[in-house]
Amino acid sequence: MNLSEPLVIRHFTGLSRLNFGVDNGFYPLGSCTMKYNPKVCEEMARLEGFSLLHPLQPLQSVQGALRLMYELEKMLCEICGFARFSLQPAAGAHGELTGMMIVQAYFKKKGESRTKVLVPDLAHGTNPASVSMCGFEAVEVKSDSSGNTDLEDLRAKMDENVAGIMITNPNTLGLFDQNIADVCRIVHEKGGLVYGDGANMNALLGICKPKDLGIDVMHLNLHKTFSTPHGGGGPGSGPVGVVEKLVQFLPLPLVEKNGDKYAFEFGGENSIGKMRSFYGNFGVMVKAFTYLRAIGSDGLKQVAENAVLNANYLLSRLRKHYHLPFDRVCMHEFVLSDKGFPNNVTTNDIAKRLLDYGFHPPMVYFPLIVKGAIMIEPTETESKETLDRFADAMVKIKEEAAENPELVKTSPHSMPVRRLDAVKAARQPDLRWKE
Ligand SMILES: *Cc1c(COP(=O)(O)O)cnc(C)c1O
Repeated sequence: MNLSEPLVIRHFTGLSRLNFGVDNGFYPLGSCTMKYNPKVCEEMARLEGFSLLHPLQPLQSVQGALRLMYELEKMLCEICGFARFSLQPAAGAHGELTGMMIVQAYFKKKGESRTKVLVPDLAHGTNPASVSMCGFEAVEVKSDSSGNTDLEDLRAKMDENVAGIMITNPNTLGLFDQNIADVCRIVHEKGGLVYGDGANMNALLGICKPKDLGIDVMHLNLHKTFSTPHGGGGPGSGPVGVVEKLVQFLPLPLVEKNGDKYAFEFGGENSIGKMRSFYGNFGVMVKAFTYLRAIGSDGLKQVAENAVLNANYLLSRLRKHYHLPFDRVCMHEFVLSDKGFPNNVTTNDIAKRLLDYGFHPPMVYFPLIVKGAIMIEPTETESKETLDRFADAMVKIKEEAAENPELVKTSPHSMPVRRLDAVKAARQPDLRWKE
């Protein structure tokens, strides 16, 4: 069948308008840090000197690219307090696996065989997955009634058979774990290592260094914190940073500087080896580098301050209307729930109704320890007007739930499709678009 050009153009333009992204609306998806990505970062990544490079080019012809990697690594080390970073891992979860392999190599070299890794009940699903992919047994540690790690439970489970803990701080409730120093001390006293999941780094930038908290090895999500659009499985980057004693285990190559020349360093018998083809997702590194150089160290601190301020502003507007399971000042995100909502209107209903008001829903039903969780992360890039519009919609939905629950329960009403069977939609997607 032949189709005319205008038909094809209209088809694809129509499809593109069905998409929702941070460039056309508020996207408060907790845990994901869906913040606005400045366009200058894209522009730099597209410069032909970067985008047309071939990874097998002679080193003297790619000195600028190597310098960028070298300086990006230095900046990440400064932000986190670590001795070195590997830029190889392609995502957060990939960084977790890399980190776990480093932990494994550390104990192997010491001649110890530790079989377990502790993972808090609040952890992102990738944490226990990475732990077991690496051959460790994941052991759950409880959180206490104020949302911190339960130290008694930790003490009971931490012994010489445990390689360490994988911890997220701020945790997935958006709360700063006030027990973090004790957690690290208890784990270190038994010879274990502390792995930090750095996905929530947006709240700490320029304010506190993970190394100072007692963390030994950690990944960052460049595609969350350092400005690369994400979602849909696009390219990401999950650099892994380590304290001095773990540098020898990092994936190779690292970029070294000799005089004013940059080169790849391949040696190192203790390295866990290569984690990815070539050197990682270079385009994402260019964006992170651009972002950091554009905002500078003062800007970086403002990112964290405004992310926390925006979250607390929204929290203060919504706390009268929604159940707040952990009533504390939050960091960059916070968790509400549907407890006590009128007429059994659920978190899922609220999320679908938000679509009608033009908002991407928050994260729902995560973290798992909060029943009917609604996890909201506004990010630092949103204005007070946007936050107010979102809060107004959330309050309106509560009123609708009381007065006209069917309206909420059958939402969305304004989308190309109505309420879908989520499982069927994932397994048998119908991507045809009807004009
Ligand atoms: C996003 C996220 C991860 C996983 O990162 P990916 O880059 O998606 O693999 C891990 N932990 C937390 C807390 C996260 O939010």
